[in-house]
Amino acid sequence: MFDSGELQAMSDEGLIDALRRAHGAAAFAQAAEVLAVRELYRRQQDAEEGTVGPRGGEFAATEAALAVQISEQVAAALIDIGLALDALPRTREAFASGRIDLARTQVIADNTREVPPEILADLEQTLIEAAVRSTPARLRQTARRWVAKLDPEGERRRRERREQDRDIRIKAVQDGMAVFEGLLPAAGAQTVAMRLREMSRQVCEEDPRTMPQRRADALVALSDGSGRLPCSCGRGADCPVRAADASPRRPLIQIGIPAGTLLTGRDHPAFLAGYGPLDAGLARRIAEQAQFQVIPERTDDPSITEEALRREPPAWLDREIRALDGCCRFPGCTMPAAECEIDHIEPFDVARPGRGGPTVMANLITLCAHHRRLKSLADNGRLPWRVHRGEGDRLHWTSPTGDRHVTVREGARYLFPHTDTEAPDLDWPSPTAVSEPPHPATIDLTYPLEHALAHRPLSAVPPEDRP
Ligand SMILES: [Zn+2]
Ligand SMILES: [Zn+2]
Repeated sequence: MFDSGELQAMSDEGLIDALRRAHGAAAFAQAAEVLAVRELYRRQQDAEEGTVGPRGGEFAATEAALAVQISEQVAAALIDIGLALDALPRTREAFASGRIDLARTQVIADNTREVPPEILADLEQTLIEAAVRSTPARLRQTARRWVAKLDPEGERRRRERREQDRDIRIKAVQDGMAVFEGLLPAAGAQTVAMRLREMSRQVCEEDPRTMPQRRADALVALSDGSGRLPCSCGRGADCPVRAADASPRRPLIQIGIPAGTLLTGRDHPAFLAGYGPLDAGLARRIAEQAQFQVIPERTDDPSITEEALRREPPAWLDREIRALDGCCRFPGCTMPAAECEIDHIEPFDVARPGRGGPTVMANLITLCAHHRRLKSLADNGRLPWRVHRGEGDRLHWTSPTGDRHVTVREGARYLFPHTDTEAPDLDWPSPTAVSEPPHPATIDLTYPLEHALAHRPLSAVPPEDRP
Protein backbone atom coordinates (compact mmCIF):
# COMPACT_ATOMS: atom_id res chain seq x y z
CA MET A 1 0.00 0.00 0.00
CA PHE A 2 2.56 2.57 1.10
CA ASP A 3 6.27 2.22 0.80
CA SER A 4 8.01 3.79 3.75
CA GLY A 5 9.23 6.77 1.73
CA GLU A 6 5.69 7.67 0.85
CA LEU A 7 4.59 7.75 4.51
CA GLN A 8 7.59 9.81 5.52
CA ALA A 9 6.79 12.45 2.92
CA MET A 10 3.20 12.92 4.17
CA SER A 11 2.01 15.85 6.25
CA ASP A 12 0.54 15.03 9.69
CA GLU A 13 -2.95 15.53 8.28
CA GLY A 14 -2.15 13.29 5.31
CA LEU A 15 -0.82 10.64 7.62
CA ILE A 16 -3.91 10.67 9.85
CA ASP A 17 -6.06 10.54 6.75
CA ALA A 18 -4.06 7.57 5.46
CA LEU A 19 -4.49 5.90 8.84
CA ARG A 20 -8.23 6.41 8.68
CA ARG A 21 -8.43 5.04 5.14
CA ALA A 22 -6.30 2.06 6.10
CA HIS A 23 -8.61 1.36 9.06
CA GLY A 24 -11.61 1.54 6.72
CA ALA A 25 -9.89 -0.82 4.28
CA ALA A 26 -9.13 -3.24 7.13
CA ALA A 27 -12.79 -3.09 8.18
CA PHE A 28 -13.81 -3.74 4.58
CA ALA A 29 -11.56 -6.81 4.56
CA GLN A 30 -12.88 -7.98 7.94
CA ALA A 31 -16.41 -7.73 6.58
CA ALA A 32 -15.44 -9.79 3.54
CA GLU A 33 -14.03 -12.44 5.86
CA VAL A 34 -17.12 -12.51 8.05
CA LEU A 35 -19.50 -12.68 5.10
CA ALA A 36 -17.41 -15.41 3.46
CA VAL A 37 -17.42 -17.70 6.51
CA ARG A 38 -21.10 -17.02 7.03
CA GLU A 39 -21.76 -18.08 3.42
CA LEU A 40 -19.63 -21.21 3.90
CA TYR A 41 -21.73 -22.03 6.92
CA ARG A 42 -24.98 -21.46 5.03
CA ARG A 43 -23.95 -23.79 2.23
CA GLN A 44 -22.94 -26.57 4.55
CA GLN A 45 -26.08 -26.07 6.57
CA ASP A 46 -28.27 -26.33 3.47
CA ALA A 47 -26.36 -29.29 2.07
CA GLU A 48 -26.63 -31.29 5.23
CA GLU A 49 -30.24 -30.60 6.00
CA GLY A 50 -32.22 -33.77 6.55
CA THR A 51 -29.33 -36.17 6.25
CA VAL A 52 -27.96 -38.47 8.92
CA GLY A 53 -24.44 -37.03 8.57
CA PRO A 54 -23.05 -33.94 10.28
CA ARG A 55 -25.72 -31.52 11.39
CA GLY A 56 -26.34 -27.91 10.40
CA GLY A 57 -22.95 -26.58 9.34
CA GLU A 58 -21.30 -28.27 12.28
CA PHE A 59 -17.86 -28.29 10.67
CA ALA A 60 -17.92 -24.99 8.81
CA ALA A 61 -15.89 -23.32 11.55
CA THR A 62 -13.36 -26.14 11.49
CA GLU A 63 -12.87 -25.75 7.77
CA ALA A 64 -12.67 -21.95 7.88
CA ALA A 65 -10.26 -22.10 10.81
CA LEU A 66 -7.91 -24.37 8.91
CA ALA A 67 -8.10 -22.34 5.71
CA VAL A 68 -6.75 -19.17 7.32
CA GLN A 69 -5.09 -20.74 10.37
CA ILE A 70 -7.16 -19.14 13.10
CA SER A 71 -8.61 -20.91 16.12
CA GLU A 72 -11.92 -22.63 15.73
CA GLN A 73 -13.46 -20.40 18.38
CA VAL A 74 -12.54 -17.31 16.41
CA ALA A 75 -13.94 -18.83 13.22
CA ALA A 76 -17.12 -19.69 15.11
CA ALA A 77 -17.30 -16.15 16.44
CA LEU A 78 -16.98 -14.74 12.92
CA ILE A 79 -19.76 -17.02 11.69
CA ASP A 80 -21.87 -16.00 14.65
CA ILE A 81 -21.44 -12.32 13.87
CA GLY A 82 -22.22 -13.02 10.21
CA LEU A 83 -25.44 -14.73 11.27
CA ALA A 84 -26.43 -11.80 13.46
CA LEU A 85 -25.92 -9.48 10.49
CA ASP A 86 -28.74 -11.27 8.64
CA ALA A 87 -31.13 -9.38 10.90
CA LEU A 88 -29.12 -6.17 10.73
CA PRO A 89 -29.01 -5.12 7.06
CA ARG A 90 -27.86 -1.57 7.71
CA THR A 91 -25.08 -2.67 10.06
CA ARG A 92 -24.01 -5.18 7.47
CA GLU A 93 -23.90 -2.42 4.87
CA ALA A 94 -21.90 -0.06 7.14
CA PHE A 95 -19.46 -2.87 7.94
CA ALA A 96 -19.08 -4.02 4.34
CA SER A 97 -18.35 -0.47 3.21
CA GLY A 98 -15.66 -0.07 5.89
CA ARG A 99 -17.57 2.61 7.85
CA ILE A 100 -17.51 0.55 11.04
CA ASP A 101 -14.99 -2.12 11.89
CA LEU A 102 -15.36 -5.63 13.28
CA ALA A 103 -15.15 -4.54 16.92
CA ARG A 104 -18.06 -2.11 16.57
CA THR A 105 -20.06 -4.50 14.41
CA GLN A 106 -19.64 -7.11 17.10
CA VAL A 107 -20.91 -4.72 19.77
CA ILE A 108 -24.01 -3.95 17.71
CA ALA A 109 -24.61 -7.63 16.97
CA ASP A 110 -24.17 -8.64 20.63
CA ASN A 111 -26.40 -5.94 22.01
CA THR A 112 -29.28 -6.29 19.60
CA ARG A 113 -29.34 -10.06 19.63
CA GLU A 114 -32.54 -10.38 21.59
CA VAL A 115 -34.12 -7.06 20.84
CA PRO A 116 -37.62 -7.49 19.37
CA PRO A 117 -37.76 -6.60 15.66
CA GLU A 118 -40.27 -3.82 16.34
CA ILE A 119 -37.60 -1.95 18.26
CA LEU A 120 -34.66 -3.00 16.16
CA ALA A 121 -35.66 -1.10 13.05
CA ASP A 122 -35.25 2.27 14.78
CA LEU A 123 -32.49 1.28 17.14
CA GLU A 124 -30.16 -0.06 14.47
CA GLN A 125 -29.64 3.20 12.57
CA THR A 126 -29.05 5.15 15.79
CA LEU A 127 -26.50 2.59 16.92
CA ILE A 128 -24.59 2.77 13.64
CA GLU A 129 -24.38 6.54 13.96
CA ALA A 130 -23.15 6.17 17.55
CA ALA A 131 -20.66 3.51 16.41
CA VAL A 132 -19.03 5.87 13.95
CA ARG A 133 -18.14 8.32 16.73
CA SER A 134 -17.41 5.98 19.68
CA THR A 135 -14.83 3.47 20.77
CA PRO A 136 -16.17 -0.09 21.04
CA ALA A 137 -16.14 0.13 24.87
CA ARG A 138 -18.18 3.32 24.92
CA LEU A 139 -20.48 2.04 22.18
CA ARG A 140 -21.20 -1.01 24.31
CA GLN A 141 -22.29 1.20 27.21
CA THR A 142 -24.47 3.38 25.01
CA ALA A 143 -26.06 0.39 23.31
CA ARG A 144 -26.86 -1.25 26.64
CA ARG A 145 -28.33 1.96 28.02
CA TRP A 146 -30.65 2.33 25.06
CA VAL A 147 -31.67 -1.31 24.99
CA ALA A 148 -32.32 -1.21 28.75
CA LYS A 149 -34.45 1.88 28.28
CA LEU A 150 -36.45 0.51 25.37
CA ASP A 151 -36.89 -2.97 26.73
CA PRO A 152 -36.43 -2.87 30.54
CA GLU A 153 -38.28 -6.09 31.23
CA GLY A 154 -36.28 -8.02 28.62
CA GLU A 155 -33.08 -6.53 29.99
CA ARG A 156 -33.92 -7.70 33.51
CA ARG A 157 -34.70 -11.21 32.36
CA ARG A 158 -31.58 -11.46 30.21
CA ARG A 159 -29.53 -10.35 33.20
CA GLU A 160 -31.18 -12.86 35.54
CA ARG A 161 -30.62 -15.65 33.08
CA ARG A 162 -27.01 -14.64 32.55
CA GLU A 163 -26.35 -14.48 36.30
CA GLN A 164 -26.79 -18.24 36.33
CA ASP A 165 -23.56 -18.52 34.37
CA ARG A 166 -21.39 -16.86 37.00
CA ASP A 167 -18.17 -18.72 37.50
CA ILE A 168 -14.50 -18.35 38.48
CA ARG A 169 -11.95 -20.78 37.13
CA ILE A 170 -8.23 -21.20 36.75
CA LYS A 171 -6.43 -22.66 33.81
CA ALA A 172 -2.76 -23.61 33.80
CA VAL A 173 -0.65 -22.08 31.05
CA GLN A 174 3.07 -22.42 30.38
CA ASP A 175 5.99 -20.92 32.34
CA GLY A 176 4.59 -21.72 35.76
CA MET A 177 1.64 -19.38 35.38
CA ALA A 178 -2.10 -19.86 35.45
CA VAL A 179 -4.95 -17.87 33.98
CA PHE A 180 -7.56 -16.80 36.50
CA GLU A 181 -10.78 -15.86 34.82
CA GLY A 182 -14.43 -15.70 35.45
CA LEU A 183 -17.81 -14.27 34.78
CA LEU A 184 -19.39 -12.19 37.54
CA PRO A 185 -22.45 -10.00 37.89
CA ALA A 186 -21.29 -6.50 36.94
CA ALA A 187 -21.62 -4.89 40.36
CA GLY A 188 -19.68 -7.69 42.02
CA ALA A 189 -16.97 -7.61 39.36
CA GLN A 190 -16.65 -3.86 39.72
CA THR A 191 -16.37 -4.26 43.50
CA VAL A 192 -13.49 -6.72 43.07
CA ALA A 193 -11.79 -4.50 40.48
CA MET A 194 -12.04 -1.39 42.64
CA ARG A 195 -10.87 -3.23 45.74
CA LEU A 196 -7.78 -4.48 43.87
CA ARG A 197 -7.16 -0.96 42.64
CA GLU A 198 -7.48 0.38 46.18
CA MET A 199 -5.02 -2.23 47.50
CA SER A 200 -2.62 -1.51 44.64
CA ARG A 201 -2.23 1.99 46.01
CA GLN A 202 -1.40 0.92 49.56
CA VAL A 203 2.30 0.67 48.73
CA CYS A 204 4.84 3.51 48.83
CA GLU A 205 5.99 5.28 45.68
CA GLU A 206 9.22 3.32 45.45
CA ASP A 207 7.42 0.05 44.96
CA PRO A 208 8.85 -1.19 41.65
CA ARG A 209 5.78 -3.10 40.47
CA THR A 210 3.49 -1.97 37.67
CA MET A 211 -0.21 -1.55 38.35
CA PRO A 212 -1.10 -4.84 36.60
CA GLN A 213 1.47 -6.66 38.75
CA ARG A 214 0.17 -5.04 41.94
CA ARG A 215 -3.39 -5.92 41.02
CA ALA A 216 -2.40 -9.55 40.59
CA ASP A 217 -0.54 -9.60 43.93
CA ALA A 218 -3.46 -7.84 45.60
CA LEU A 219 -5.86 -10.59 44.56
CA VAL A 220 -3.64 -13.16 46.24
CA ALA A 221 -3.26 -10.95 49.35
CA LEU A 222 -7.02 -10.64 49.47
CA SER A 223 -7.43 -14.39 49.34
CA ASP A 224 -4.74 -15.34 51.85
CA GLY A 225 -6.60 -13.29 54.42
CA SER A 226 -3.98 -10.56 54.97
CA GLY A 227 -6.15 -8.16 52.99
CA ARG A 228 -3.28 -5.74 52.50
CA LEU A 229 -0.68 -5.54 49.74
CA PRO A 230 2.83 -5.55 51.25
CA CYS A 231 5.16 -2.94 49.78
CA SER A 232 8.07 -4.24 47.69
CA CYS A 233 10.32 -1.21 47.88
CA GLY A 234 12.86 -3.12 49.96
CA ARG A 235 13.41 -0.22 52.37
CA GLY A 236 12.32 -2.20 55.39
CA ALA A 237 11.58 0.02 58.35
CA ASP A 238 12.15 3.15 56.25
CA CYS A 239 9.13 2.48 54.07
CA PRO A 240 6.55 5.13 54.97
CA VAL A 241 3.56 2.82 54.55
CA ARG A 242 5.03 -0.05 56.54
CA ALA A 243 3.22 0.64 59.77
CA ALA A 244 0.46 2.77 58.33
CA ASP A 245 -2.99 1.58 59.13
CA ALA A 246 -5.61 1.63 56.49
CA SER A 247 -6.79 5.09 55.55
CA PRO A 248 -10.55 5.60 55.73
CA ARG A 249 -12.33 3.50 53.16
CA ARG A 250 -13.98 5.15 50.23
CA PRO A 251 -16.97 3.47 48.63
CA LEU A 252 -15.72 0.91 46.14
CA ILE A 253 -18.39 1.34 43.54
CA GLN A 254 -20.70 4.16 42.62
CA ILE A 255 -24.05 3.80 40.95
CA GLY A 256 -26.15 6.63 39.57
CA ILE A 257 -29.85 5.82 39.87
CA PRO A 258 -32.51 8.12 38.48
CA ALA A 259 -34.95 9.20 41.20
CA GLY A 260 -37.89 7.81 39.23
CA THR A 261 -36.35 4.35 39.12
CA LEU A 262 -35.58 4.39 42.82
CA LEU A 263 -38.75 5.93 44.19
CA THR A 264 -41.59 5.51 41.75
CA GLY A 265 -40.83 2.17 40.15
CA ARG A 266 -39.92 3.60 36.75
CA ASP A 267 -37.65 1.42 34.66
CA HIS A 268 -34.87 3.70 33.49
CA PRO A 269 -31.47 2.01 33.82
CA ALA A 270 -28.89 3.05 36.40
CA PHE A 271 -25.20 3.69 35.74
CA LEU A 272 -22.44 1.65 37.33
CA ALA A 273 -19.36 3.82 36.94
CA GLY A 274 -16.64 2.00 35.02
CA TYR A 275 -19.08 -0.51 33.60
CA GLY A 276 -22.22 0.99 32.14
CA PRO A 277 -25.94 0.43 32.56
CA LEU A 278 -27.64 -1.74 35.17
CA ASP A 279 -31.30 -2.56 34.82
CA ALA A 280 -33.75 -0.91 37.18
CA GLY A 281 -34.56 -4.04 39.21
CA LEU A 282 -30.91 -4.73 39.98
CA ALA A 283 -30.25 -1.08 40.81
CA ARG A 284 -33.11 -1.07 43.34
CA ARG A 285 -31.79 -4.25 44.91
CA ILE A 286 -28.29 -2.81 45.32
CA ALA A 287 -29.76 0.44 46.62
CA GLU A 288 -31.22 -1.39 49.62
CA GLN A 289 -27.74 -1.49 51.13
CA ALA A 290 -26.26 1.68 49.68
CA GLN A 291 -25.34 5.06 51.03
CA PHE A 292 -27.10 7.86 49.19
CA GLN A 293 -26.12 11.19 47.80
CA VAL A 294 -28.88 13.17 46.19
CA ILE A 295 -27.87 14.93 42.99
CA PRO A 296 -30.40 17.59 42.03
CA GLU A 297 -30.98 18.50 38.40
CA ARG A 298 -29.86 22.08 37.98
CA THR A 299 -30.91 24.21 35.09
CA ASP A 300 -29.13 27.33 36.29
CA ASP A 301 -25.65 27.42 37.73
CA PRO A 302 -26.00 28.37 41.38
CA SER A 303 -22.31 28.27 42.07
CA ILE A 304 -21.29 31.78 40.99
CA THR A 305 -20.21 32.91 44.44
CA GLU A 306 -16.89 33.58 46.07
CA GLU A 307 -16.33 29.81 45.93
CA ALA A 308 -15.90 30.26 42.18
CA LEU A 309 -12.68 32.12 42.89
CA ARG A 310 -11.11 29.25 44.78
CA ARG A 311 -9.28 26.60 42.88
CA GLU A 312 -10.74 23.58 44.64
CA PRO A 313 -14.50 23.13 44.27
CA PRO A 314 -16.56 22.89 47.46
CA ALA A 315 -17.48 19.34 48.50
CA TRP A 316 -21.05 19.52 47.15
CA LEU A 317 -19.83 20.65 43.75
CA ASP A 318 -17.09 18.02 43.63
CA ARG A 319 -19.74 15.37 44.37
CA GLU A 320 -22.18 16.65 41.76
CA ILE A 321 -19.56 16.94 38.98
CA ARG A 322 -18.47 13.36 39.58
CA ALA A 323 -22.06 12.12 39.53
CA LEU A 324 -22.96 14.05 36.39
CA ASP A 325 -19.84 13.15 34.41
CA GLY A 326 -19.82 9.52 35.58
CA CYS A 327 -16.41 8.88 34.02
CA CYS A 328 -13.39 10.64 32.53
CA ARG A 329 -14.48 13.19 29.93
CA PHE A 330 -11.81 12.30 27.38
CA PRO A 331 -13.40 10.61 24.34
CA GLY A 332 -13.69 6.87 24.90
CA CYS A 333 -12.13 6.79 28.38
CA THR A 334 -14.22 4.79 30.85
CA MET A 335 -12.29 5.49 34.07
CA PRO A 336 -14.96 5.94 36.78
CA ALA A 337 -15.41 9.52 37.99
CA ALA A 338 -14.63 8.48 41.56
CA GLU A 339 -11.13 7.60 40.35
CA CYS A 340 -10.74 10.86 38.42
CA GLU A 341 -9.65 14.36 39.32
CA ILE A 342 -11.75 17.47 38.93
CA ASP A 343 -10.35 19.86 36.38
CA HIS A 344 -11.31 23.22 34.87
CA ILE A 345 -12.23 23.39 31.19
CA GLU A 346 -10.98 26.95 30.91
CA PRO A 347 -7.92 26.79 33.15
CA PHE A 348 -8.08 28.40 36.56
CA ASP A 349 -5.61 31.24 36.94
CA VAL A 350 -3.84 30.63 40.23
CA ALA A 351 -1.96 33.92 40.07
CA ARG A 352 -5.02 36.02 39.33
CA PRO A 353 -8.20 34.27 40.48
CA GLY A 354 -11.14 35.66 38.57
CA ARG A 355 -9.17 36.18 35.35
CA GLY A 356 -9.10 32.54 34.26
CA GLY A 357 -11.92 30.01 34.26
CA PRO A 358 -14.06 30.06 37.43
CA THR A 359 -14.68 27.09 39.69
CA VAL A 360 -18.31 26.66 38.66
CA MET A 361 -20.27 23.65 37.52
CA ALA A 362 -20.23 24.60 33.84
CA ASN A 363 -16.45 24.94 33.84
CA LEU A 364 -15.61 21.73 35.71
CA ILE A 365 -15.11 18.18 34.42
CA THR A 366 -13.66 14.92 35.66
CA LEU A 367 -10.49 13.63 33.99
CA CYS A 368 -8.37 10.60 34.79
CA ALA A 369 -4.74 11.35 35.64
CA HIS A 370 -3.55 10.44 32.15
CA HIS A 371 -6.01 12.65 30.29
CA ARG A 372 -5.69 15.45 32.81
CA ARG A 373 -2.03 15.57 31.95
CA LEU A 374 -2.85 15.67 28.24
CA LYS A 375 -5.21 18.60 28.79
CA SER A 376 -2.79 20.44 31.01
CA LEU A 377 -0.01 20.13 28.42
CA ALA A 378 -2.47 21.32 25.78
CA ASP A 379 -3.56 24.29 27.93
CA ASN A 380 0.07 25.33 28.26
CA GLY A 381 0.66 25.11 24.53
CA ARG A 382 2.99 22.15 24.86
CA LEU A 383 0.72 19.71 23.04
CA PRO A 384 -1.38 20.68 20.01
CA TRP A 385 -4.69 19.34 21.34
CA ARG A 386 -7.52 21.82 21.83
CA VAL A 387 -10.40 21.57 24.26
CA HIS A 388 -13.39 23.85 24.40
CA ARG A 389 -16.93 23.90 25.70
CA GLY A 390 -19.75 23.61 23.23
CA GLU A 391 -23.47 23.91 23.60
CA GLY A 392 -24.99 22.53 26.81
CA ASP A 393 -22.68 19.99 28.39
CA ARG A 394 -20.80 19.21 25.20
CA LEU A 395 -17.04 19.23 25.40
CA HIS A 396 -15.11 19.40 22.14
CA TRP A 397 -11.71 17.80 21.77
CA THR A 398 -9.69 18.63 18.66
CA SER A 399 -6.72 16.39 17.97
CA PRO A 400 -3.40 17.75 16.64
CA THR A 401 -4.51 16.97 13.10
CA GLY A 402 -7.94 18.50 13.44
CA ASP A 403 -10.08 15.48 14.26
CA ARG A 404 -13.06 16.49 16.37
CA HIS A 405 -14.57 14.49 19.19
CA VAL A 406 -17.38 15.42 21.52
CA THR A 407 -18.16 14.06 24.97
CA VAL A 408 -21.12 14.81 27.21
CA ARG A 409 -21.93 14.28 30.86
CA GLU A 410 -22.49 10.54 30.66
CA GLY A 411 -23.73 10.12 34.24
CA ALA A 412 -26.35 12.83 33.76
CA ARG A 413 -27.87 10.84 30.86
CA TYR A 414 -28.76 8.19 33.44
CA LEU A 415 -29.66 10.40 36.40
CA PHE A 416 -31.96 12.55 34.28
CA PRO A 417 -33.16 10.23 31.51
CA HIS A 418 -35.05 12.97 29.69
CA THR A 419 -31.70 14.61 28.89
CA ASP A 420 -30.62 11.57 26.85
CA THR A 421 -31.91 13.24 23.72
CA GLU A 422 -30.00 11.08 21.25
CA ALA A 423 -31.62 7.88 22.50
CA PRO A 424 -34.24 6.39 20.21
CA ASP A 425 -37.56 7.25 21.80
CA LEU A 426 -40.17 4.69 20.97
CA ASP A 427 -43.54 4.06 22.43
CA TRP A 428 -42.81 0.44 23.09
CA PRO A 429 -45.18 -1.62 25.18
CA SER A 430 -42.76 -3.59 27.35
CA PRO A 431 -42.59 -6.36 28.62
CA THR A 432 -41.40 -8.50 25.78
CA ALA A 433 -40.62 -12.14 25.36
CA VAL A 434 -37.02 -13.15 25.88
CA SER A 435 -35.85 -15.81 23.48
CA GLU A 436 -33.31 -18.41 24.35
CA PRO A 437 -29.79 -17.42 23.38
CA PRO A 438 -28.75 -18.91 20.03
CA HIS A 439 -25.41 -20.05 21.41
CA PRO A 440 -24.23 -21.14 24.85
CA ALA A 441 -24.17 -18.05 27.03
CA THR A 442 -20.78 -18.86 28.50
CA ILE A 443 -19.03 -18.26 25.19
CA ASP A 444 -18.02 -14.65 25.11
CA LEU A 445 -17.04 -13.42 21.71
CA THR A 446 -13.89 -11.41 21.73
CA TYR A 447 -12.27 -9.41 19.05
CA PRO A 448 -9.66 -11.83 17.75
CA LEU A 449 -6.74 -9.55 18.30
CA GLU A 450 -4.57 -9.92 21.33
CA HIS A 451 -1.24 -8.30 21.25
CA ALA A 452 1.06 -7.07 23.98
CA LEU A 453 2.81 -3.87 23.03
CA ALA A 454 6.55 -4.43 22.94
CA HIS A 455 7.31 -0.79 22.28
CA ARG A 456 6.93 1.04 25.60
CA PRO A 457 6.74 4.65 24.40
CA LEU A 458 3.47 3.78 22.67
CA SER A 459 1.94 4.34 26.07
CA ALA A 460 -1.13 2.30 25.32
CA VAL A 461 -1.36 1.61 29.02
CA PRO A 462 -5.08 1.61 29.75
CA PRO A 463 -6.14 4.05 32.48
CA GLU A 464 -6.75 1.27 35.02
CA ASP A 465 -3.09 0.28 34.69
CA ARG A 466 -1.86 3.68 35.75
CA PRO A 467 -1.24 4.33 39.43
ZN1 LIG B 1 7.68 0.92 50.50
ZN1 LIG C 1 -9.28 9.31 30.90
